[in-house]
Amino acid sequence: MREPMPSDTVYVCPMHRDVRLSQPGKCPHCGMALLPEGTRFGLMRHMLSSPMHIALMVAVMLALMAGLMMLMR
Ligand SMILES: [Zn+2]
Repeated sequence: MREPMPSDTVYVCPMHRDVRLSQPGKCPHCGMALLPEGTRFGLMRHMLSSPMHIALMVAVMLALMAGLMMLMR
C-alpha cells in the first residue's frame, strides 16, 4: 500500500528547518539531501503500518539476541 503523495510537497533539510524547497535537492548550508517534509515520522508510521515490517524487526532482534547469548555463554 502506498500513500498518495501530495503534489505540493515541500522538501526540508533534516538539520536546517529554515531550508524549504519545492523540489528535491541539496541543502545550501550543509549539502545534505533534502527530505520531503513529514518523512521523519512517516518512516516510523510506515514501519508500524505493515505487520510484515514488525515481524521482520522482531525476527532481527531475536536473531541478534540469540547471537549475543551464544557469545556470552
Ligand atoms: Zn542543512
